[in-house]
Amino acid sequence: MPISPETRNLKRITDAMTEPLFQHHAEPDDRLANIHQLLLQHFGEQKPRDPWDPLSQFIYSLLSSRTKTETTYAVVRHLRERFGTWENLRDASLAEIENGIRDVTFPEQKAVQLKASLEAITERYGSLTLDWLARYRTEKIRSWLEQFPGVGPKTSAAVVNFSTLRRRALCIDSHHLRVTQRLGLTPRADAATTEERLMRIVPEAWDAAMLDEHHQLIKKLGQTLCTFADPKCRQCPLLKLCPYGKRQTSGEEGR
Ligand code: SF4
Repeated sequence: MPISPETRNLKRITDAMTEPLFQHHAEPDDRLANIHQLLLQHFGEQKPRDPWDPLSQFIYSLLSSRTKTETTYAVVRHLRERFGTWENLRDASLAEIENGIRDVTFPEQKAVQLKASLEAITERYGSLTLDWLARYRTEKIRSWLEQFPGVGPKTSAAVVNFSTLRRRALCIDSHHLRVTQRLGLTPRADAATTEERLMRIVPEAWDAAMLDEHHQLIKKLGQTLCTFADPKCRQCPLLKLCPYGKRQTSGEEGR
């Protein structure tokens, strides 16, 4: 009996719903390890991070969105000098905080978020510190941090991975999103989904420091070669692995 178009459609939908989102790799997936190696050869060893306490890292990461790394470092240094302690920063007026962070993007909005977060942390623990987070599981820390306004997966990953907490997490900033999508490692998705998908293929042996180094290498690639507007694929050490780069450069052959 011929199958009706409706039945065929229903079957297609049912098949799609039961198909795994990603095919299971029988072999260990070594794509990230290869990429890491090629980037290390190209950019050299990255300077090991001297991790900050979790609260200082939280303040830095909250201020850093859409702001250049050097600018955010300079602003955090300035805040330390101007206020002396993070308690003094918490107790300052919104106008004083906004003035202290005026070089980052959206200072007005970030001043409100920063003051509210520092007050809420003090209320939760009785004093202004995040060192107590070390007692908790990584997922619990991250979901607790993400309840604060302006804190998403990128900031929570930075706090748990870059600070003295030193947990396994991958901080997905805009460079990381762009580079991994161009490399075909993940489809277009938000930072949380991209991190979740990348963490499935991260080598099990990679500890927190390796994940930090991987983040630094990908960020450097995004800042120097795999830029938003003008990717320099011909100079890129990942060209042979990169579908986007191959498409870009194949168009240049006939010129
Ligand atoms: S080959 Fe081009 S698109 Fe691919 S990662 Fe390198 S610079 Fe980016």
